Amino acid sequence: MVVTRFAPSPTGYLHIGGLRTALFSYLWAKKNKGEFVLRIEDTDKARNSQEAAEAILHAFEWLGLKHDGEITYQSQRGEIYAKYIQKLLDEDKAYYCYMSKEELEVLRETQMANKERTMYDGRYRDFKGIPPEGIEPVVRIKAPKTGAIVVKDGVKGDVVFQAEDILDDFVIARADGSPTYNFVVAVDDALMGINEVIRGDDHLSNTPKQIIVYEALEFDVPKFYHVPMIHNAEGKKLSKRDGATDVMAYKEMGYTPEALLNFLVRLGWSYGDQEIFSMEEMIELFNPKDINKSASIYNTQKLEWLNAHYIKNTPNAELADLLTQYGLLLTSHDKKEILLDALKERAKTLVELKSLITEILDTPESYDEKAIKKAFKSDSVEILNTFGAKLNQARELHLPTDYHDVMQEVVDAMEIGFGKIGQPLRVALLGKMSGPGLDSVMAIIGKDETLQRIANAIAANS
Ligand code: GLU
Repeated sequence: MVVTRFAPSPTGYLHIGGLRTALFSYLWAKKNKGEFVLRIEDTDKARNSQEAAEAILHAFEWLGLKHDGEITYQSQRGEIYAKYIQKLLDEDKAYYCYMSKEELEVLRETQMANKERTMYDGRYRDFKGIPPEGIEPVVRIKAPKTGAIVVKDGVKGDVVFQAEDILDDFVIARADGSPTYNFVVAVDDALMGINEVIRGDDHLSNTPKQIIVYEALEFDVPKFYHVPMIHNAEGKKLSKRDGATDVMAYKEMGYTPEALLNFLVRLGWSYGDQEIFSMEEMIELFNPKDINKSASIYNTQKLEWLNAHYIKNTPNAELADLLTQYGLLLTSHDKKEILLDALKERAKTLVELKSLITEILDTPESYDEKAIKKAFKSDSVEILNTFGAKLNQARELHLPTDYHDVMQEVVDAMEIGFGKIGQPLRVALLGKMSGPGLDSVMAIIGKDETLQRIANAIAANS
């Protein structure tokens, strides 16, 4: 069974790049009918917080990405790590190192002066003597001194790390007994049964160290996929200036989970030239072997385009529901079908959709000057009054076509072009020249409000 994981360090919020690797891991597990588990890497007391862990879970909830089983918190697994550190000590695969900070510093300076790579020199590796007093030792793992560690990476191919170049006997437990990052990641991945690790390639350099831990503990090494970073248009690492990095900021900006996930799956992965993927299709088609070898480029227009697509294709009742999250209570509005039909093709985000809607529902308080100049001519008042009078004649006015018919009657009776009524009426109803079809606007606000807005506009502009 394929078991993948997402292992965020809770330092603030769920990062968009983290979400992308989480999504890849999720899809791959689901495709294989396996499991996608969550591990919160919260051992750094100074930088991690419970709120940050909750923010990550909250983002997952918004996106509808469900993890399998219980969440693992590293902060609760101290005893497990201690047990495996002891195991390595007992098996002589790790050892206490009594080097003081000062000694380490001297070593470092000497190596630098000799233009050598700064690394621990292994002086306690085979130490059998009496430990120096007053030193709380760290525990170091016996890393191979020669040969190569090969990361068989599903994205990058075999990545070879020469032991002598890069590996020293790295610390697995600090002087206070706390285990170090690369040790706990390997122990957890192994004990949690993770067999496919999909993560950012900023972790590639950690992988040989983790492989050393796996091998020392005789655990199976998982398959790795290191995913290239997301870059901005200039080819630099994505930063807040290029687009939001906090996943929940996308919700605030009015993006739908479907659009965001669709956007992310295409950052670094492709399936022919297909752009739109439902969750079912992503699960069916995703394969980490198709992850691109080069960095992917973040493109806001693409995200907006996808979001517009999903908004347009969301049923009205569901859209009305979504809009309540943005403070717009439309669910019981009797004209919400007309309203959303008229507007949902015009909005790139739910926030924009909300403002397009309120622009119709709210009576204009002022009128765009340019629009007035352009639309209100000497005959406009008479035309609007004629239209108002016809609206007032008893008749059924429900659908946009009902209002359209009345406009048509005025055009015919007064022998004028459609623009002669359309332009001043638009400014009267909306305060400006842009917006959706007037017949829809009037059907949404109803006859009384239409008459009121006409009267207001005439009073203000004549
Ligand atoms: N906790 C690490 C991070 O947030 C990820 C560890 C991993 O994926 O191996 O960057």
